Amino acid sequence: MHAIKPKATKEKLSIYQPDQEGLIFPEIPEFKSAAEERDYRKRHLVAACRAFALESFDYGFAGHLTIRDPERPELYWTNPMCVHFSQVKMSNLILVDHDGMVVEGDHALNRAGFVLHAAVHNEHPDILAMCHAHTVYGTAWAATGRPLEPISQDAAAFFENHTVIREEGGKVAVEVSAGKKVADAFKGVRAAIHQNHGLLTASRHSIDDAAFWFIALERCCKQQLMVEAAGIKPILVPEEKARYSQQHVGSDYIGWLHFQTIYDHIAKTQPDMFD
Ligand SMILES: [Zn+2]
Repeated sequence: MHAIKPKATKEKLSIYQPDQEGLIFPEIPEFKSAAEERDYRKRHLVAACRAFALESFDYGFAGHLTIRDPERPELYWTNPMCVHFSQVKMSNLILVDHDGMVVEGDHALNRAGFVLHAAVHNEHPDILAMCHAHTVYGTAWAATGRPLEPISQDAAAFFENHTVIREEGGKVAVEVSAGKKVADAFKGVRAAIHQNHGLLTASRHSIDDAAFWFIALERCCKQQLMVEAAGIKPILVPEEKARYSQQHVGSDYIGWLHFQTIYDHIAKTQPDMFD
């Protein structure tokens, strides 16, 4: 299962891609081997964890990010238990199976992370990557049990592309049955607000895409809370415009593209991520 397919043609994935030749612009890499793709996925998983640290998404050991292995899609790479997002590096990632066994790496696995992510990955073979954390604004918004409204162009990226999961909310997911209920809700959407718990994002494209839309979702929760706290009734983006924005600036590719800015920053300023 290769998330990032080699380009058959020079087809344009977005209006952001320059028509002019020779300009510096991020390119989706083409991989010559599974080993090369694995290395890429692991580096970008580490950068995603560190991006979460920069965003202050840490809460003790809570929070987990996963990406499937390119050669053995039944296994996925994840951050180790009780290692701060800022300390995640290539050498401490772990490779785990759907039964929660660590098949590569020295660290233990986060049990709750395993239950939720394994259930979603298991039920949705097309989902390659997932992110979950107990963030301040996302968790606060999750207490409302409401989906986000399209109050801005940014929020429109989630229009008809996220869900509210009310099952098992507020009860820590350590049982396999709890994971199954969460997985059921994750059909055809990139994100979920788990009532009384926090945010989840999933990607059919890359860990970059899952991580960027997680950061964006937390921001959207913050903005909607701010607007509501001000007592202002927001003017909503009309449905057809929200749908247009979702399709054009809210795609998987756009999530990947946004994340390249963050990846470059972290790779340059935190070279120990490659240790
Ligand atoms: Zn959680």
